[in-house]
Amino acid sequence: MISVDSNSNLTAAADIGGTQIRAALVTHKGEILSENRDATMPERGIEDATSRLSELLYEVTSDADAVTGLAVSTAGPIDPATGTYDHPPNLTGWHGKSMKPELERLTSLPVAIGHDATLAALAETKFGPFKNAHSLVYVTISTGIGGGIIANGEMVTGSTGQAGELGHITVRTDPEALACGVGCHGCFEGNASGPNIGRMARAAASSDPSGASILIGLAGGDVASIDARLTFEAAEKGDDVAERVVKQVIENVGRGIASILAVLDPHGLVVGGGVVHSLANRWDELIEAIKTYGLPRYESRGVPVSITELGDDVSLLGASVLSFSRFGNS
Ligand SMILES: [Zn+2]
Repeated sequence: MISVDSNSNLTAAADIGGTQIRAALVTHKGEILSENRDATMPERGIEDATSRLSELLYEVTSDADAVTGLAVSTAGPIDPATGTYDHPPNLTGWHGKSMKPELERLTSLPVAIGHDATLAALAETKFGPFKNAHSLVYVTISTGIGGGIIANGEMVTGSTGQAGELGHITVRTDPEALACGVGCHGCFEGNASGPNIGRMARAAASSDPSGASILIGLAGGDVASIDARLTFEAAEKGDDVAERVVKQVIENVGRGIASILAVLDPHGLVVGGGVVHSLANRWDELIEAIKTYGLPRYESRGVPVSITELGDDVSLLGASVLSFSRFGNS
């Protein structure tokens, strides 16, 4: 058992996603001193995952004299006050349950829980390109589109802990606009997430195969194998259809980000997630699209949007920030 000291400059932190669980010992400067991970295997139940997480935490903290506490970043939806899940799509079977009481009992540590995207935003206020920002938004563009919001120094969690569903703001209203899995027509996620970029490209390639010859070639001749990554790659190589899709995606992302900036006036907005690596090559165009759809002030003062530099550690580091702010003295 590890001892608790609110003056310690170390904390235990964990990150729970649909595929893996990570546990780490993190300093107040965001250095990960030791780390361990395991497959989540959500189908085995939350009790099983909690017990395995506590073992991982025991291992990573074994060399530490004391920690301030433990904070857990997790995929949601979740009520951050209690840690209770609300129909989490990637943690099937965990609905209505929380890790918090059992984790407190097993680790003897004070435990705080936060939504992974909100904690990603929190990490960016401490360690990212807009560090020390009091108002910051983190947007993740990958399988889905989600986000976390820090406004005036506070995590914005909403009435039920589910604020920050930035993927479901409307970015398109034309007849070709797609709907997301939830069913909202023309939303950001439906028209810019990784799988939906693939969907747009497959439809475009099917209706104009000769214009998509490079793209179809990259997919080994099989339109069904076209995905977001191949679409960006084909556009780079001069494929007409892929280029059209990529231009549309850039416009959709630009509209989404412009709306978020208009609502929250953040010091900065940080973009992460798998699709951002592809977008990085078209960054100048994205900034132009944000200016086109955004408020005129961004023409003069510049667009405060960057790609995350924290990679896959962003939510884990956010958990460490939460732990120090909740349980630490520094
Ligand atoms: Zn939606």
